[in-house]
Amino acid sequence: MSFENLGLSDAVMEGVHRAGYTEPTPIQAQAIPIVMEGLDVIGASQTGTGKTAAFALPLLTRLGGPGKLRCLILEPVRELAAQVEDTIAEFSKGTGLRTLLMHGGVGYGHQLDALNEGVDILIATPGRLLDHMGRGTVKLDNIEILVLDEVDRMLDMGFLPDVRKIVGKCPDNRQTLFFSATMPPAIDSLAKWALREPREIEIGQRRGVAETVSHAFYPVATKQRTELLLAILKETDFKSVMIFTRTKRDADMLASTVKRDGADYRITVMHSDIKQSDRAKALKGFRDGDFDVIIATDLAARGLDISGVTHVINFSVPENAEDYVHRIGRTGRAKQEGDAFTILSAEELSFATAVERFIGQKVERRKLEGFPYVYTTLLDDDAPSAEKLARVFNRRPAPKRLRRKR
Ligand code: AMP
Repeated sequence: MSFENLGLSDAVMEGVHRAGYTEPTPIQAQAIPIVMEGLDVIGASQTGTGKTAAFALPLLTRLGGPGKLRCLILEPVRELAAQVEDTIAEFSKGTGLRTLLMHGGVGYGHQLDALNEGVDILIATPGRLLDHMGRGTVKLDNIEILVLDEVDRMLDMGFLPDVRKIVGKCPDNRQTLFFSATMPPAIDSLAKWALREPREIEIGQRRGVAETVSHAFYPVATKQRTELLLAILKETDFKSVMIFTRTKRDADMLASTVKRDGADYRITVMHSDIKQSDRAKALKGFRDGDFDVIIATDLAARGLDISGVTHVINFSVPENAEDYVHRIGRTGRAKQEGDAFTILSAEELSFATAVERFIGQKVERRKLEGFPYVYTTLLDDDAPSAEKLARVFNRRPAPKRLRRKR
């Protein structure tokens, strides 16, 4: 399969050559012909599979040249919207099509100016778009192609009612492209309502971990988690590392601890309490290599495409098994090798079991050579399985009477 037989326009093909893409990824090979035919698509795909170009290339070809606002791409978070806009802007260079990135946390001035001058493709997060629609500065009457991206993330963030409002304002005879890694009932019913006879695309294992990522759990006593993290950082020959924490407080705490530890890492932090302009700076700095460590909450876990992340470290096992796949998917992208380490303490055993069940494989347990481990049963070589320990930890204590007899 090559890009040449897919019917993409010359201007778009120039972009493909500029990007250095030689052959379509599996999702591109499947999606591009369907989108080119004008059909609706419902797609599940692992992160890092080339999903953005899978919808961007054919939609740019179908739009052709400048006109009215005819394409809306909805994204759950600003960073993702910005990333998709980068891709669209790159591939639309020779087409004359005008794109606008629209999200909150920034002023209205630039957005209003661009809307006045004319926009063909709007890449937006739901809140700010609804704002504009309320003010009458954006009208969706001429939308021909609607892309709903990362819909499961929209659900997690409580955006589905907003998404319904927005979809309801688009013409019925539009083409809709719908992407979601998972299909819980709320998303299934949204898809049934928003799509017409969609073609389904599912690439690889929905729940899989990229084959290029080697991942392991590092069991340790709870009180040594930070110490172990610092030791792993010291022992690891990384180029760029993303450290994920469950809470914003943990992210801030770790950042100051790692800084205090004295090693000359260049560190930045990203979570939702940090203001938008600083979040953008953190991400850009990390992408550009100005920082080699980013400490983040799950805000940064999904979909962001940062090339060359060599290591992901989870400061704790994520409570939501799916987040594990998203987090470690930040490394090993586009066929590069990556390592993902997860620090595991006894109280997280049930999460670890859930992760292993979700991805359908056992995760290797590793010890860091030379680390002054204090004892925890997790470290025994013949330690019982995570499932068994989880059962033991969750078990109620036996009644006192019985215990005294023994
Ligand atoms: P995405 O899944 O859209 O985030 O894309 C993941 C990465 O793969 C991005 O860095 C893309 O530039 C890259 N990519 C997408 N399609 C191709 C392709 N056909 N050949 C090589 N790299 C690609």
